[in-house]
Amino acid sequence: MARIIDGKKTAQDIKDEVKQAVSELTKNGRSVTLAVVLVGDDPASAVYVRNKKKACEYCGIVNRQINLPADTSEEELLQLIDQLNRDDSVNGILVQLPVPPQIDGQKVIQAISPKKDVDGFSPISVGALSIGLPGFRSCTPAGIIELLHRYDIQTQGAECVIVGRSNIVGKPMGMLMLRENATVTIAHSKTKNLQEVCRRADILITAVGKPKMFTRDYVKEGAAVIDCGMDRDENGRLCGDVDFGDVSPIASCITPVPGGVGPMTVAMLMKNCVEAISLQQD
Ligand code: NAP
Repeated sequence: MARIIDGKKTAQDIKDEVKQAVSELTKNGRSVTLAVVLVGDDPASAVYVRNKKKACEYCGIVNRQINLPADTSEEELLQLIDQLNRDDSVNGILVQLPVPPQIDGQKVIQAISPKKDVDGFSPISVGALSIGLPGFRSCTPAGIIELLHRYDIQTQGAECVIVGRSNIVGKPMGMLMLRENATVTIAHSKTKNLQEVCRRADILITAVGKPKMFTRDYVKEGAAVIDCGMDRDENGRLCGDVDFGDVSPIASCITPVPGGVGPMTVAMLMKNCVEAISLQQD
């Protein structure tokens, strides 16, 4: 039976480490501030923003919450980002995505200063990751690397198959695993013989968004299985891309959903806010 990778506990450990780091900074007269911008009243976005606020409160990070109406224009939002970029008291800027349709999300991402881009989505952060320069790492894949390290999962020389090629998970995950000296395959909806490709993996990372798609037919015996999916099953319950009940008897370790990768994302955001201080000093 697979060892369960406890993302909830690991995320708590990371938040405790961040809290400690923030407290040290505070003793030296520094504070850490995250500006979170929410445009409109999308209920799912409101939940994400609330979770980030709670994590900031726990870690001692100042949360500057800015709520804008749903009819905010692109120009107004870009002006606000410009102000926050120039404001030395703000260390991290996060615009909760998606933004309403009159606003180009890519323009918003690109407007955030790379020194404050704690989500790690800007082309400069992504480019820095690709060529091994310092910069922010996208929180979900960076959280998976933390899980692999803290659970002593061997990455060097491992065959890693990532299914999904989104800009926020699949692609940065590939770059991070390459830095870990894994042999990386990124599969997607056009990949041929997906089961066969996945069965090569010592580490299988799924970021597809299809509930319980990955049964044991996709998994090599003894593989580490990391499930990013945040899906709903036929009863509306939260589940992952991996069929946990079917796969866990043959995997060596596995992340559950909920309680696996999910909690790591906000914890890594908190970590990025502290790292912003040293990036801004350089
Ligand atoms: P996304 O933008 O929704 O894209 C899905 C990816 O999966 C695409 O690359 C797509 O391929 C691929 N795909 C779809 N159906 C497939 C199939 N049948 N076989 C193989 N590949 C297939 O991806 P995302 O935003 O990374 O989200 C993926 C999942 O992760 C979702 O469940 C999301 O909720 C979850 N997520 C969780 C967190 C977290 O904090 N835990 C963070 C982000 C995302 P093509 O490119 O060819 O279309």
